[in-house]
Amino acid sequence: MRDIQARLRLMNTVERPEQVFLRGQGSWLWDSGGRAYLDFNQGGAANSLGHSPNVIVEALQRQAENLLNPGPNFYNRSLIKLAARLCQATGSDQAYFLNSGAEANEAAVQLARKWGRLHRGGASRVISARQSSHGLTFGALSLPAQTGGNAPAVSGFGSVPFNDLVALQAAVDDDTAAILLEPVQGDAGIIPASLEYLQGAERLCREHGLLLILDEVQTGMGRCGALLAEELYGVRADIVTLGKGLGGGVPLAGLLARGNACCFEPGELGGTLHGNPLMASAGLAVLQAVLEPGFIERVRELGDHLRSGLAGLVGQHGHGPLRGHGLLVGLPLHAPDAAALARAALAEGLLISAPTDRCLRFTPALTVSHANVEEMLRRLAPAFAKVTQPSSETR
Ligand SMILES: *Cc1c(COP(=O)(O)O)cnc(C)c1O
Repeated sequence: MRDIQARLRLMNTVERPEQVFLRGQGSWLWDSGGRAYLDFNQGGAANSLGHSPNVIVEALQRQAENLLNPGPNFYNRSLIKLAARLCQATGSDQAYFLNSGAEANEAAVQLARKWGRLHRGGASRVISARQSSHGLTFGALSLPAQTGGNAPAVSGFGSVPFNDLVALQAAVDDDTAAILLEPVQGDAGIIPASLEYLQGAERLCREHGLLLILDEVQTGMGRCGALLAEELYGVRADIVTLGKGLGGGVPLAGLLARGNACCFEPGELGGTLHGNPLMASAGLAVLQAVLEPGFIERVRELGDHLRSGLAGLVGQHGHGPLRGHGLLVGLPLHAPDAAALARAALAEGLLISAPTDRCLRFTPALTVSHANVEEMLRRLAPAFAKVTQPSSETR
């Protein structure tokens, strides 16, 4: 009862199920009634190592005891270590750390504008793709021209249909500084860029002297079966943004730059808690885990298991084919049942997300086990039986 009163004090920004979660371990969550849930959402792909992994807990404990926050205008050990290791692992020249993916993308746009002033005659426009999701701040919302709601569009952006190279080419003009894309449109329903599209976008950038910015907030840090999804496509961006999995469940986002995109000067970017050692220590723990030999191969293997298991389960209902890479898996539905299916799964003790009304998203911990995948399929089957009819009957 007290809980219900307390819940009303939280702003009503999203429809939440009634469960109140108290504890998590690996792929499992427990609510206030002691019920266990298998988590294939993992904080919307943020918890790359699952719930409360020892390596993050220990890193946070050690860091909290030593130094919480010297302030962004000073070096701290965890911060410079994370910058050096992440740059080395990703072949980047410089890194910067912020608190959210939206902030990282806004910083990327500011970096592109600075670069445009220095190297492209003051060009400042950034072109992105429709239905992309780059975050919910004013600037990040304006990128894919998502207007409406309470967010007036910030100017200086253009947007084009995704996976359409001709449209992208046509949108480039003298005022264009950069093209910003998700390698896989996550929130739009796990829609991967085609190989030709992403490689074509890179070629376009080279031909016109533009920056290629990849938003790897959802796809990066091993999620797609490579440290960065750009590797899967054989492209190399000038700027990469990271978030979600980078912190493994704590607020940490990153901005990586290569070559002459490294052009910020003092006073051009900042934030009170940017680069704080507490979050950086979590990032270091995640990076070390993901770089362990065999970790990324295991993500691919578990991704294959998840995909084939899901295909077997849902094929009979007429859904699919599955989309995505590695452990970023989208299941397209033939009817707009995603929210109802996610609710039915929750009733079976399974957390999955519904980014659109026709797509279910599976983003388990990168450390998920084969047994977890089998258990997930066992819990998902009754949800499908309850909600969806075989496609032949609905036609
Ligand atoms: C989640 C997401 C963001 C926004 O990150 P926040 O930390 O929620 O601000 C940006 N880009 C992509 C591709 C995302 O998936």
